[in-house]
Amino acid sequence: MIVVMKPAATREHIDAIIERVEGVGCKTHVIVGEGRSVIGVIGDGRTLDRRQIGRMIGVETVMPISKPYKGASREFKPENTVIQVGDVTIGGNDLVVMAGPCSVEGRTELLEVAHACREAGAHILRGGAYKPRSSPYSFQGLGEEGLRYLAEAREATGMPVITEVMDPALVPLVCEYADILQIGARNMQNYTLLNAVGKSGHPVMLKRSFSGTTTEWLMSAEYILSHGNNNVMLCERGIRANETETRNTFDINAIPVVKHLSHLPIIADPSHATGRWEYVGAGAKAAVAAGADGVILEVHPQPDEAWSDGRQSLKPERFAKLVKQMRAVAMAVERDIPANGVPVALNGRGVRPLPVR
Ligand code: PEP
Ligand code: MN
Repeated sequence: MIVVMKPAATREHIDAIIERVEGVGCKTHVIVGEGRSVIGVIGDGRTLDRRQIGRMIGVETVMPISKPYKGASREFKPENTVIQVGDVTIGGNDLVVMAGPCSVEGRTELLEVAHACREAGAHILRGGAYKPRSSPYSFQGLGEEGLRYLAEAREATGMPVITEVMDPALVPLVCEYADILQIGARNMQNYTLLNAVGKSGHPVMLKRSFSGTTTEWLMSAEYILSHGNNNVMLCERGIRANETETRNTFDINAIPVVKHLSHLPIIADPSHATGRWEYVGAGAKAAVAAGADGVILEVHPQPDEAWSDGRQSLKPERFAKLVKQMRAVAMAVERDIPANGVPVALNGRGVRPLPVR
């Protein structure tokens, strides 16, 4: 429910309401406005009597939250959620660029592509160590060895790392190495996994499933938020339609729809949405124009040799050019893609991590 306070309500009146609702295990989000304050309340409705709250001092009116997802809705929290990951801000006016290979293939390979992504303008390094492959006979990822290489690449480049976690039992391990946990499309409704990443408190990027509606997607985000983990971002990665020229159909509508319904940042993944590198640039620029808070792109120095998703991977040079074009589009919609600083040679092993603006 939303509790709208009278303009004359004092901090004590607000605190009394917070104490009452949190006392029965509900969660609050207070917005102190210029004219009046509003308190978003979520939790088990059976424990709270709306009329009783309505009679408390300073309350003007109490309204139900109309959506089934409460904490994820803009009704509950009108202002955008901004997530801080190291020096990188996600969900603010600046867009974030995440890039890297589909899978971590080896130490040298990862360090090479991480440096190339960083030099081309990426802020966050992506790479899968646990891969959800359609065939059990395909490469399944390097596991913990891959996580170690990701952590080493973070040290070498200064870029925070995002990687997928598929197994609730592995959440603590992946948290040790990664800055952002990725929930893949195939696991959007794996509630045991959503509960585990929710409890971890670690930033999470929740991908939309092939057939997930916006409501189902936001309900999955709600699972994570319900554990008090507010660091949730969404990712549109294409849905399944009847088109066969592209791997998936990029639902560009999802970007303004999610921005309207939710306060959570939205990242676009045109690599999986198109499945072909030739179309990735168009999707990325369209996503920026549509209001995405960032993009995640698969980059590989030799896409033909990639162990997974080579067909949709950009070469570093193409990626570098695309970052410049995306920046121009971002500026046209009054946003920006900040430069990530120029890497400085430190020693033979890597570069000095530079603060990312
Ligand atoms: C990936 O990011 O490599 C991936 C497997 O994505 P999705 O879950 O969207 O298919
Ligand atoms: Mn992939």
